[in-house]
Amino acid sequence: MSRKKKRLSREAEKSVSEFANKAVLSILEMLDDGKEVPGMCLNCREKPGRLAYGLMVYDNPWAVESRPMHTCSSKCFEELFYTSELSFFRCTDCGRYIRSYNPANPLEEYFAEEDGLKVCLKCIEEPEGSGDAV
Ligand SMILES: [Zn+2]
Ligand SMILES: [Zn+2]
Repeated sequence: MSRKKKRLSREAEKSVSEFANKAVLSILEMLDDGKEVPGMCLNCREKPGRLAYGLMVYDNPWAVESRPMHTCSSKCFEELFYTSELSFFRCTDCGRYIRSYNPANPLEEYFAEEDGLKVCLKCIEEPEGSGDAV
């Protein structure tokens, strides 16, 4: 019975994150005006990247500058940002999209989970309220 319970809670968590992803993807599809950006889709590398299917991302929680990453479709967007090995996460505290792992050392994660939500290491290090507003 406990195994079933565990599976149910995992499914609940999964459906919450799937719901969030679907909401993001449908917003992106609404934003798609067909505009292309220089460079190929960073996921399939076959089609040009499109403006609507991109995000400003940070390579690590302490990076000062973000950079744009574009894909060609909502499918590629989903794969690159949520399901690829070097995926990105959205920090619950600062709202930035940040690489999930250190590319040089994939065992080093750039986030910690609090109540099932991902928070970047920078937000965890900093006491509350001492953010950008200072
Ligand atoms: Zn693509
Ligand atoms: Zn953060």
